[in-house]
Amino acid sequence: MSELQDNILAVLKDGGFHSGEVLGSALGVSRTAVWKQLQKMQNMGLPLESIKGSGYRLAQGFELLSAADISAQLKAACPRHIDVFHSLNSTNTFAREQATSRDYAGSVVFAEQQTSGRGRRGTEWLSPFGASIYMSVLWDFEQGAQALEGLSLAVGVAVRRALLDLGLADVSLKWPNDIYVRGKKLGGILLEMVGDPEGHCSVVIGVGINVSMPLATGLNIDQPWTDLDSESFSPISRNRLAAQLIDQIFILLADFETAGFSAYRDEWESADALNGLHCAIITPRETTSGVVLGVDNGGAVRLRLADGSIQRFIGGELSLRLAK
Ligand code: ATP
Repeated sequence: MSELQDNILAVLKDGGFHSGEVLGSALGVSRTAVWKQLQKMQNMGLPLESIKGSGYRLAQGFELLSAADISAQLKAACPRHIDVFHSLNSTNTFAREQATSRDYAGSVVFAEQQTSGRGRRGTEWLSPFGASIYMSVLWDFEQGAQALEGLSLAVGVAVRRALLDLGLADVSLKWPNDIYVRGKKLGGILLEMVGDPEGHCSVVIGVGINVSMPLATGLNIDQPWTDLDSESFSPISRNRLAAQLIDQIFILLADFETAGFSAYRDEWESADALNGLHCAIITPRETTSGVVLGVDNGGAVRLRLADGSIQRFIGGELSLRLAK
């Protein structure tokens, strides 16, 4: 998002009508320049209303993320910083950069839009403006990568708890870190490590949850997906959801290094979307089929293969899918 678009949004944030002329003179540009930017912002997905004679405003009911609103709704967590940006390339990338440049551990960053949202294995996470939650938490750990086994699955448990607290039903987890509702993908989790895998390191925990995904954008998602607007009876406030996610993730992080994944394993397995089903583990080189037997304390998925043997699988390159 350009600086001018950022400035226009800062004025529209109050929810009132603003004429192109007033916006232009407040921002030191012509009415036409404002109009052009508003068109572009609408194309990005920003819901705008315009009335002849009154001007432009954000569509009623549309809520921008606000650090103050999120913070006021926190019950358990106390993040060091909560940053909200209109646009970032990726909240994970931003949090990673902070890890090396300033004291950002224990902070959370949100963006209304990601221009290069990422999934695992270099896939894209579609991140249109104001349509979802895109957030990253930066957290420091002392005991190295070994103590972090299963963390990304445990984060799935925390995200599910936040969604259940908001009244959602039928929330399941797909190994290793997808959030499903009624068999469709609602969100994803992406963990990245910065620092020393043997000792002190920081982990970036990225979470994306679809709230009001525009259908046109959804057409570009190459697997069944859903959003909270389709799954809940009443509209869900993104600021409230953001606060619930922070609370649940911080509760988990506070004791993960001592409790480990074993403390979350039963809950994870009770929500496992694929437990007992015939599935395939896919790597860039081979596909292995078997029946899913749940996960172990290290967060690896266990499969019973055709010959009766049980094999565990773990690692960022693996993908678990229902067998065709
Ligand atoms: P795996 O099943 O192994 O997790 P995945 O393809 O689901 O593989 P992820 O990294 O979890 O990989 O997510 C990226 C994938 O999710 C994309 O390739 C796309 O298929 C899908 N996707 C992208 N954006 C969205 C979105 N906003 N909502 C739901 N799904 C999305």
